[in-house]
Amino acid sequence: MKLIFLGPPGAGKGTQSENICRDYGIVQLSTGDLLRANVAQKTELGLQAAESMRTGQLVPDDLIIEVIKNEMTRHRYQKGYVFDGFPRTVRQAEEYDRMLVQIKQKLDCVLVLEVPEDELVRRLTARRTCPVCGKSYHLIYNPPKADGLCDLGCGELVQRLDDTEGPIQNRLRIYNNQTKPLIEYYTKKKLARRIDGMGDIHEIYAQIKEILDPIAVAYDLVVSII
Ligand code: AMP
Repeated sequence: MKLIFLGPPGAGKGTQSENICRDYGIVQLSTGDLLRANVAQKTELGLQAAESMRTGQLVPDDLIIEVIKNEMTRHRYQKGYVFDGFPRTVRQAEEYDRMLVQIKQKLDCVLVLEVPEDELVRRLTARRTCPVCGKSYHLIYNPPKADGLCDLGCGELVQRLDDTEGPIQNRLRIYNNQTKPLIEYYTKKKLARRIDGMGDIHEIYAQIKEILDPIAVAYDLVVSII
């Protein structure tokens, strides 16, 4: 099962991707997490991406396409994957389409998570992230079990540098200008499915399951009951 999660920063793509991976046994591929790991390890890619990431700009398409090609050739992702944060531009989507043709695979569904902009700002400023495993929390809606610590035992949570006022505004503007057109792109391909991203995390996930269960059955992936 191959999926894309589309939606503005702070819509809950990462949190819902975790649920999807747990229930369907597929892998989450977050370009943001991959880039952050490269920045932390000071790799060549990390050094090239760091400044754009800090200010909330997009990392150049060529670098991202390179990252995705490496990932797709290194792993086989037998049960499938969900992309979280990729593609973010029409050019990335077109390159990904070409890759799929080359490896004779098809994309099953694009989940579009919709959340109003004022709510996104509220969510992002209250977001705390584990710098080790990438899991994110919300101080009020989805707090960690112990104050300031990752539930998975990694250590202290941090506020991402780009989860602050200036970078948040940049990221939202860039989403509207460069990423939002992908909704139209995938609607034309009859792959886009819209999800109301407001409200309770479990209710949002129930909408997602309703869309994914029939696809998972076709792939013979175990469908757990919630
Ligand atoms: P995210 O964790 O998805 O919010 O991504 C954090 C930052 O990484 C973004 O603000 C961009 O600077 C960069 N980034 C992640 N994915 C992409 C992508 N597909 N294209 C360009 N830049 C990206």
